[in-house]
Amino acid sequence: MQTIKSLIDGQWCEATEHTENINPSDLSDPVCRVANASAGLARQAVEAAKRAQPGWAATGLQARAQILKDISRGILTRSHELAQILAKEQGKTLPEARGEVQRAADIFDYFAGEVYRLGGELFQSVRPGVEVEISREPLGVVALITPWNFPIAIPAWKSAPALAFGNAVVLKPSEFTPATAFLLAEIIKDAGVPDGVFNLVLGTGAEIGQTLLEHPSVSGVSFTGSSATGRKIAAAAIAGNKKLQMEMGGKNAMIVLDDADLDIAVFCALDGAFYSTGQRCTASSRLIVTPGIYERFSQQLSDKILALNIGHALDDKSQIGPVSNYPQLEKNLSYVELARKEAGSIIGGERLQRASEGYYLQPCLALDVDPQARIAREEVFGPLACILRARDYEQALAISNDTEYGLSSGICTQSLKYATHFRRNTQSGLAMVNMPTSGVDFHVPFGGRGASSYGSSEQGHYARDFFTCVKTSYIRS
Ligand code: NAD
Repeated sequence: MQTIKSLIDGQWCEATEHTENINPSDLSDPVCRVANASAGLARQAVEAAKRAQPGWAATGLQARAQILKDISRGILTRSHELAQILAKEQGKTLPEARGEVQRAADIFDYFAGEVYRLGGELFQSVRPGVEVEISREPLGVVALITPWNFPIAIPAWKSAPALAFGNAVVLKPSEFTPATAFLLAEIIKDAGVPDGVFNLVLGTGAEIGQTLLEHPSVSGVSFTGSSATGRKIAAAAIAGNKKLQMEMGGKNAMIVLDDADLDIAVFCALDGAFYSTGQRCTASSRLIVTPGIYERFSQQLSDKILALNIGHALDDKSQIGPVSNYPQLEKNLSYVELARKEAGSIIGGERLQRASEGYYLQPCLALDVDPQARIAREEVFGPLACILRARDYEQALAISNDTEYGLSSGICTQSLKYATHFRRNTQSGLAMVNMPTSGVDFHVPFGGRGASSYGSSEQGHYARDFFTCVKTSYIRS
C-alpha cells in the first residue's frame, strides 16, 4: 500500500506516526497509509514558506500565470486518477468526483488570468501637489485549513488565489481526505512551483492546525469547516493578529410556493438535499412548503428518495455514495433518531447493507417538522432534510430567515414578484431561484453571513480581498 507524505520545502517527508486512510464504500479496501507530520514539521513548513515567499512574489506575472495554467493542465491530465482516488476516499460517486476535479482545473485556469488583473487606484490628495496611490501586496505566508467534503475543490479555490497574488502556502487538508490533497501537491510541485512556496502538511486539526495558527510567521488563515471549529480558529487567529477568512456550516432553506413547477421543485430538493450524500455546506436541509402544493411535493419527493440507488462510490449505478466517515455516520444516525421524535413522520433513514461493508445510509426525509425543532435548526451535514409548513410566502420567508446561519437559500416559484422580493430579502450570501441551493460557479464570489461565514468572500475576483493587503502611498511630486 502506498504511503502518502507531507511536502515541505520541496521534499516529501516521512513521519514516525502512520494512520490508514479508510475507504467508506469498502472498509476492507483502504486507500493508502498516511505519514502524519509532527508539530515540528508543521513549523518547518511555515519557515520554508517564509523564506520562499519574497522570491515568489517577485516572480514575473507571465511566469506565475504560466505555472497556474500548468497546474490546471496537470489536474486535467491526471483527472481520471484524481477522480478515482477522490471517490474512493471521500465516498462521492464518480460523476460527482469528476465534476469536482474539473472544477479544480477551472479554478487554477481562472486565477492564471487573475494574476494580470491585480491593479490599483490613483487619487488626488486633498493636499495640493500630492497624489495617493493604492496598491495591493501579498499577505505573506497563508495557512489553508480545509474540510473533507470537497477534497480538491476547496484546497484549489484557496491555493490558486493565494499563489496567483504572490503568497506562500501551507495547506492542511482534512485528516479524512489526505490522498486527494497529496495528488494535488504532486501536480503543483511538478508544475514548477519553487520549493517552499507550496507546502502540504498532513495531520490532525488539534495538532497541525493549532501549530499553524500559533506560528508568528503565518499572516493569514483561510478556513473552511464547521462553525464549532471556526470559533476555536477565530480565537487563536485573532490572538495572533492574523487576517482571517472562514466559511462554515449552513441550515439552508428552500421555499416551495403553490405556483412552483412541481418537477423543478422536486428536482431542486432532491439534488440540493441528498446528492453528495447531503454533505454540502449549501445543502437544502429545510424545505418550506405552502399548503396548495405540500401534499403533491412531499409525495413526489418521498417516492424519488426511496427510488435512489445508494451504493459503492465507484459503481456506475450508484447515485448516492456512502457517508464519508464514521463520526459523520454516527452523527447522522443520532439525528435520524431525533427526527423520529420531533417530526410528524419520517421516510428512509435506515442503515443499509451492501456487498462491501461501508457507511451506507438511506436518505431521510422528516415531514411536518416544527421550525423550532432541533432538526430544523442544527446543521446535520448528512442526507437528512425536513419539510416545514408555511401559510404563505411571507411566513415562509420569515421561517427561512429565522436561523443563526446564512449561507444559501432558494425559492421555487413562477412569480417574478415573489422571486424578486425573495432575492432582495433573504438573509444569506447565496440566493437561488428555481435552482438547488447547492452548485455554484467558480468565477463569482462565494460566501455567507452569520454563523456561516467570517471575513471576505472566496472565489472570483473577490478572492483578492483576503489574499492581498492594501497599501496607500502618498507622493509629493
Ligand atoms: P471540521 O471543522 O471538523 O474540520 C475542518 C478542518 O479543520 C480539518 O482540516 C480539521 O482537521 C481542522 N481542524 C479541526 N479542529 C481544529 C483546530 N482546533 N484547529 C485547527 N484546525 C482544526 O469540519 P469537517 O467535518 O471537515 O467539515 C464539515 C463542515 O464544513 C460542515 O460544517 C460544513 O458545513 C462545513 N463546510 C463549509 C463550507 C463553506 O464554504 N461554507 C464548505 C464545505 C464544508
